[in-house]
Amino acid sequence: MTDRSPTDSSWPLTTLPWQRESWLRLQRAVASDSLAHALLLSGGAGIGKTHFSCALAGLLLCHQADATGACGHCRSCQLLQAGSHSDLLHMVPEPGSRVIKIDQVRTLIDFANQTSGLGPRKVMLINPAEALNLNAANALLKCLEEPAAGTHLLLVSHASSRLPATIRSRCQLLTLPAPAPEQTRSWLDQMTGDATTSAALLEMTGNRPTAALHLHHSEGLQQQQALQQGLDALAGGAISAIQFPQLVAELELAEVLGLLAGRLQTAIKAAVQDQPGDLRQHFLLLDELLRLQRAVLHGGNPNRQLTIENCAAELARVLGAGQ
Ligand SMILES: [Zn+2]
Repeated sequence: MTDRSPTDSSWPLTTLPWQRESWLRLQRAVASDSLAHALLLSGGAGIGKTHFSCALAGLLLCHQADATGACGHCRSCQLLQAGSHSDLLHMVPEPGSRVIKIDQVRTLIDFANQTSGLGPRKVMLINPAEALNLNAANALLKCLEEPAAGTHLLLVSHASSRLPATIRSRCQLLTLPAPAPEQTRSWLDQMTGDATTSAALLEMTGNRPTAALHLHHSEGLQQQQALQQGLDALAGGAISAIQFPQLVAELELAEVLGLLAGRLQTAIKAAVQDQPGDLRQHFLLLDELLRLQRAVLHGGNPNRQLTIENCAAELARVLGAGQ
């Protein structure tokens, strides 16, 4: 049972280059059947935690996994890639919602208590775990305190400090590493085939590899074009800062801040080339946007609507003042 695929149409079965050490540790634990029942996979946003958790689910469910991971060919791997594996529950917020609700967790508890269909294990993946609302988190405790045999619970979170301590303390924590900038660039270059495109994508996404790859996909690029038009409208006064949050309703707050910072950087570059004037306000705002983005990426949780409105209003003011 899969609510939606993680980042792509096919389910990733291998991990990313910078995750090798973490992967080997877990692979050894799976091989010796000593993996903790509940695992909390944490780390910064956009570094590939979802990718890693999918590969781990594949490893747990594969019928003929070896030292490198899931085989990619057995019935289990095929069903996983088709998005129809009956021993997997991938729980994400329902469409149009930002939270995981108690009814979803009740479904998960039922799922945990059913007999597995294909192999000895079942996997429940909750992503992002900080989306669990309080009632849902409380209901999940039952699953953590009395785990059903053969079940594995994988919680993915870039803001694990927002999870209740009762949940965190019952999970084994694995913090996934962020890639070094050169690892990010060379990996993304292989995906895009073009170093200039990779550099632009990384700038727009605050150096987050999987967010950059998502943007590279056509859907992401079309969305990007629409957003750029929205930013132009904001900078030109055609829409107000209060209207702006609706245009970016689908994006994570960190991505919105990255977009606003990117628009400001473009304006700064143009101003430096054309007629350098007083750009102090531009740089002050740029610093503030990047500071806010870093805070959000490290688990900060400011009011989304207010933050976007305030930042959009400041951007419109600074760009208007520069004209
Ligand atoms: Zn397999």
